[in-house]
Amino acid sequence: MCQVANDLRKVVSNKHEKFFERHLQLLPSSHQGHDVNRMAIIFYSMVGLSVFDVDVPAKYKDHLGWMHKHYIKKTLDDVDNTEISGFVGSLVMDVPNAITINLANTLFALLSSIMLKDYEFFETILDKESLLRFVSRCQLPNRGSFVSCLDYKTNFASPVDSDDLRFCYIAVAILYICGCRSKEDFDRYIDTEKLLEYVLEQRCRSGAFGTHNEPHAGYTSCALSTLALLSSLEMLSDEFKEDTITWLVHRQVSNHGCMKLEDNSNATYDQSDDGGFQGRENKFADTCYAFWCLNSLQLLTDNWQKLCQIELTENYLLNRAQKTLTGGFSKNDEEDADLYHSCLGSAALALIEGKFNGELCIPQKIFNDFCKRCHF
Ligand SMILES: [Zn+2]
Repeated sequence: MCQVANDLRKVVSNKHEKFFERHLQLLPSSHQGHDVNRMAIIFYSMVGLSVFDVDVPAKYKDHLGWMHKHYIKKTLDDVDNTEISGFVGSLVMDVPNAITINLANTLFALLSSIMLKDYEFFETILDKESLLRFVSRCQLPNRGSFVSCLDYKTNFASPVDSDDLRFCYIAVAILYICGCRSKEDFDRYIDTEKLLEYVLEQRCRSGAFGTHNEPHAGYTSCALSTLALLSSLEMLSDEFKEDTITWLVHRQVSNHGCMKLEDNSNATYDQSDDGGFQGRENKFADTCYAFWCLNSLQLLTDNWQKLCQIELTENYLLNRAQKTLTGGFSKNDEEDADLYHSCLGSAALALIEGKFNGELCIPQKIFNDFCKRCHF
């Protein structure tokens, strides 16, 4: 990161700290709200705090019990009395005879536990086999893709639930955190072959990934991260990788140099978007897509920082999206800061600095410490 960017970051980093901490005030048990998105809120806040070097484990160790309570085991009403486990977003949602655990809450909670350095959870509380049995059941056998939760009648994934690359990514990330590395490891729990088929079917003709042949930066990041975690990026042809890199680089909105937009009368072109990234063609720049595009690029080529105008991206994030008075980052320069864009804006800056694991969306050092300690 350049010196100016570094200085700017120091000035506002304690504002960011307060911004993220405000969201974590929901942690104390006095708040027994119904908010099913709490695991997402905790995860986004902890990523932001970790990026700004806050000692998250020291600050939030009193809340580990709260997290543990949200880890639920269920015995299914089937002939084998199958045990599954995972996380619920809210205890209010946990009613007897209903399976309220879902993939997204489970991934958010596992990653938050890693950021809390709650190794005791991974070593003594987590029942890896029942958790991965739950993940396994979320796979649709015919399509190879995943849904987020189980059908309450059949206890299996329902083909009428929505399945897409996001849930495929979440399932694979959970398996990876639980120690799966080789194809044989993944095959113990899921049909990896079928999943890879599904992921490859989402390739678009112009490069990148999306549904109905419409490339989308978010889906592209999910697809490439899934392939990276499965050590299967080499399944993509060089031609497709090149097309994808070109598509991603062209998502940077700029009025400088070779990326200068030829048609500035484009209805979605905004001068203040300079350096930012859009998620699809003909859209305005948006902070979160700086992360999704840069993560995708770094998975495809070592040369990624030279392919796009990285100083302009930093400038966009620090001078347009960053809110120096309230802390946090906004979606664009017109909106107020929100937690999702604050998390991904911080993550994009850390990724540029080479300190972030984009596939799992947490700071690299925190994940390395976890792997050293909990190698199961
Ligand atoms: Zn966004």
